[in-house]
Amino acid sequence: MSRRLRRATAVLGLCAVLGGVPVGVPAAAVQLRAEPAPPVVTADQVMPHLYALQRIADGAGGNRAHGTRGYRGSVAYVKAQLDRAGFRTTLHRFTHAGAAGYNLVADWPGGDPGHVLFAGAHLDSVEDGPGINDNGSGAAALLATALEVSKAGLATDRHLRFAWWGAEEQGMVGSTAYVRDLSAAERDRIDVYVNVDMAGTRDIRQWLVVHDDPSAARAFEEYFAARNLPTFEIGVGGSDHVSFGDAGIPVGGFATGIDDCTHEVCDRVENVDPRTETISTNAVISAVWQLIARH
Ligand SMILES: [Zn+2]
Repeated sequence: MSRRLRRATAVLGLCAVLGGVPVGVPAAAVQLRAEPAPPVVTADQVMPHLYALQRIADGAGGNRAHGTRGYRGSVAYVKAQLDRAGFRTTLHRFTHAGAAGYNLVADWPGGDPGHVLFAGAHLDSVEDGPGINDNGSGAAALLATALEVSKAGLATDRHLRFAWWGAEEQGMVGSTAYVRDLSAAERDRIDVYVNVDMAGTRDIRQWLVVHDDPSAARAFEEYFAARNLPTFEIGVGGSDHVSFGDAGIPVGGFATGIDDCTHEVCDRVENVDPRTETISTNAVISAVWQLIARH
């Protein structure tokens, strides 16, 4: 084989591997082409969800707790947006303390059903307040992420599922019921579960990153490190990811931490820092874009 022929063969081989990407494109550009950069949202794409949840609480006696009109209104608000955006939504019903509870589950069509990336946030508040940072903020970050997935028409490798949990404040009741109702085979199909519980804490000191699933921990740590934002490593505890972790499912996620208004009447939309909320949302978007590909 002549030197020139050998080069031609090598080029042909490269083309076959890359599926026809033009020769001479630098490796970094090829990588970008295969995995489009995640979108970046502004506060205007996140905060309106928090104002909506505040209005729902204001119109329902000041809270969005399990078994109340405020909770059902919150579910209706999130579900309507997901339905419009092309998600397949289902309500998973459970009973707690004599009242019907609901988890809202949303599947993005496509992806390998044998390998699920699952992201969740609790949608209920305590009875003492509207729960806009805890956890309207996480619920809004997740909803904004889902709407970006829809807008991008994201083609996923793993199957992508979101959930908004009920009755977390009563002891992670909704997510526990959901995981309990899964078959062993269905649990096995969940590669990783990512949780967001409080995303817009005022005077945030650090993003508390769950370290369990290594790929999820890396996705969040790298996101915050690249922006010189402080993080603190935490274990599995404190919110709905425990329900998944206890079932042997690898988990990840983060929280922005409690503040003086957590579980209080003052946990209103004014208690959420739009900048922190927006950064947190973009961290979720970035992680979903990264984890949805199976490497
Ligand atoms: Zn919470």
